[in-house]
Amino acid sequence: MRNSLILLLFLCSCTSTQTSKPVDLITPEKMLEEVTFLASDAMQGRYYRSKEARIAANHIAETWKNAGLVPLPRQSSMYLLVDDVLASPNVAAMFKGSGSEYVLITAHYDHLKPRKSGKDKIYNGADDNASGTAALLLIADALSKLHTTPEASIVLVAFTGEEAGFVGSEHFASTAPIPMSQIRGLINLDMISRGEQNTIFLEGAPSAPRISLAISRANDKVNLNIVKNRHPDWLYRSDQAPFLEQGVPSVFLSVEDHEDYHRVTDHTEKIMPDLAAKTAQLTFLAAIDLAGGVP
Ligand SMILES: [Zn+2]
Repeated sequence: MRNSLILLLFLCSCTSTQTSKPVDLITPEKMLEEVTFLASDAMQGRYYRSKEARIAANHIAETWKNAGLVPLPRQSSMYLLVDDVLASPNVAAMFKGSGSEYVLITAHYDHLKPRKSGKDKIYNGADDNASGTAALLLIADALSKLHTTPEASIVLVAFTGEEAGFVGSEHFASTAPIPMSQIRGLINLDMISRGEQNTIFLEGAPSAPRISLAISRANDKVNLNIVKNRHPDWLYRSDQAPFLEQGVPSVFLSVEDHEDYHRVTDHTEKIMPDLAAKTAQLTFLAAIDLAGGVP
């Protein structure tokens, strides 16, 4: 009896070490669950000036709070208002490091306003960009299980108004709630769940060698097919652009445009939760490496 109890305890502790790696909390199932919520018809497409965008912002902040993340230095809230009073806020939080530098992981959570006519009026934006937003939520869960303190703080930012012309990211980069010069690197996720199996596109690597190295080391564990530098013009079509303009080393992870891009048919059932989850794992591991931590 006693021996078998000891054996049982031993087995339990082995299983828990095997399954308790923070990165393993990022699963296709949870990815699908978050995208299903964010891209549901009830969320009306998360247009940045809508009440549904505020519901999304609230969901992001609550998830991050539950994961133990905290507001940025000198901020009392995770909500960072932009100049447009009708707009939903940026949402930003961090996993505090020991030093004064930052590693940013970003994604926009807004999409498009419903159209006036047609059978389906809602731009659900499952791939664009419920997928990247869901990655930020799952990465927060994984960070909550990290038992070491990295050197750089890991900051998550969910931007508003990307679709309206980088409203949130321009505001963040120009008001600099954290000094731009103290950002070690930024990884932006925008559309990470469609296209070819197991394949993600990486832009910006040549100008960001440290991030690039961290991503390739992370990929030793994740095994994605990373296509590099195929579309350098993409660097200026999502939220990394205002940061690149200020000299912040930044890269962009995304998939190729597809037939549902900016159409009402960008639906949850078409996403590849596996690809999005692996891209989120890659981003999590690379960010920790870049921040000088142990995953
Ligand atoms: Zn997008």
